[in-house]
Amino acid sequence: MSYQPVSHEDHPRDTLLSLAHDGERTADPAIPPRWPFKVYLPRTTDDVVRAVREVRGRDERLIVRGHGHSSNDLVTGDGATVLVTGRMSQIVDVDERGRTVTVQGGAILSEVDAHLAERGWGLPVIGDHDRITAGGFASVGGISPASHRYGLFVDTVKELEYVDWDGEVHVCGRDRDPGRFHRVLAGTGRHGVITWLKIDLVRVDKHRTVLRNHLLFTNDLDDYLRRSAELVRDPGDALMERGVWADFPTPLGALRLGQFSSYRQTPQNPLKSLLNGAAHGSQQLLGRWARRLPAADELVKYLGMAEIMFSPLYASGKNVERLTDPTAGEPARTLAVLAPAERYEILFRRLYDVAVEERRDSGGITFVSMHVKAIRSGYLSQGEDGRRHCELMLHFGVNPAQLTEKVLERLVERVDDLVIDNGGFRCMHTRTSASPERRRLLDPNARYAEDAGKPRGKGVTGTTGKV
Ligand SMILES: Cc1cc2nc3c(=O)[nH]c(=O)nc-3n(C[C@H](O)[C@H](O)[C@H](O)COP(=O)(O)OP(=O)(O)OC[C@H]3O[C@@H](n4cnc5c(N)ncnc54)[C@H](O)[C@@H]3O)c2cc1C
Repeated sequence: MSYQPVSHEDHPRDTLLSLAHDGERTADPAIPPRWPFKVYLPRTTDDVVRAVREVRGRDERLIVRGHGHSSNDLVTGDGATVLVTGRMSQIVDVDERGRTVTVQGGAILSEVDAHLAERGWGLPVIGDHDRITAGGFASVGGISPASHRYGLFVDTVKELEYVDWDGEVHVCGRDRDPGRFHRVLAGTGRHGVITWLKIDLVRVDKHRTVLRNHLLFTNDLDDYLRRSAELVRDPGDALMERGVWADFPTPLGALRLGQFSSYRQTPQNPLKSLLNGAAHGSQQLLGRWARRLPAADELVKYLGMAEIMFSPLYASGKNVERLTDPTAGEPARTLAVLAPAERYEILFRRLYDVAVEERRDSGGITFVSMHVKAIRSGYLSQGEDGRRHCELMLHFGVNPAQLTEKVLERLVERVDDLVIDNGGFRCMHTRTSASPERRRLLDPNARYAEDAGKPRGKGVTGTTGKV
């Protein structure tokens, strides 16, 4: 296999300080850094084996880190030893006949997608932010507006290589040691370091093919739930879809609005392309302007929300996939839930109520929004044919002085209770309960891996959770 460099290794996010933080900083910019003591920067599988064996020899714990987008205490640690995958960023092989691309674990998926686009191919499922890594996405699940067709990112992984905590190299896949394969997928780095992945490709022109947005727009929650539930359970011929319900406090009371975008095929013509370009260009321009204004933080956050809320009539697949950086703007936090599609309405309503109640009681929450994506995933349904899920992403503005650790703990426990009661899962890269018993019920990986609920111990990387 020949390695092809495609990633840019220097980027403002890749500062030394970023190693002392994870996605938590979005919720509280003043959060103290947790500096690792040792950092490994492997380039190859052999380097990873060497690093793992060194750490094992010292009886230490090794934390695996992609670009640190997660926020459940997965990729940082005071005095920790961290393996950063950023230098394992190569595209190893594009197999057009076999419809797969093989990349190293630290490859940045947006860059892989750009490389594929030049050849008329694309990744079926990709994150909405441009620094997400293949190994990181495969270790958390990975959801996109195309997940109702292709599932989670893990459903699109065909094979992978990883190095376990003894320094042994394993290759496994859908047809090769599937038990091991499913245990590693969505495993939040518990089972070892993913060194390469073979991922499905689709024939697509994400940049030039324009899709028509069939937009549902309402300020009536009952109406929103009824109509969006139909689209979650039966997306029809939608190629991509996503929705959001938002609740902003204003001096005159809460302003509530919901929208659900179903993007479908439409005959192509230059006017639609022009409208797509103009809409996307003006969103970018507004974002740049807003960052310069006095109340920039709040404005940028609300513009990001407006970008989804007032999604244009025509958009290219790429513009639907890619969003304004949700980490920009005023402090905000996400608690993500994977719900069985039949529990959509009830879980949506209860999660929303919990957030609104906490806002009223503690004042620690500002705006409340609920982002929705439909999912059809073999990984989540464990092969149970036709079973559908959805992502309910509770995303809310934070007032850090009032959203104390105690208040946050209570909120997270309430969210986890609802999820357990309704047979759902949590996305383990957002804050969850720390109780191993509860984590075992919440973690979709637990059905594949017996030790999924366990907090990590010496020599074992994985999750502790904080609550
Ligand atoms: C701005 C932003 C946008 C996001 N967009 C999306 C989105 O569109 N869809 C979505 O599903 N999620 C999204 N997320 C959430 C999620 O946090 C990231 O998708 C995920 O964490 C991957 O990011 P990363 O590559 O930086 O991995 P990290 O956050 O660094 O790591 C995530 C987990 O994977 C493990 N890991 C990383 N690399 C490896 C490896 N090679 N081998 C083994 N384990 C590894 C880590 O130990 C950790 O447990 C987003 C988060 C942010 C902050």
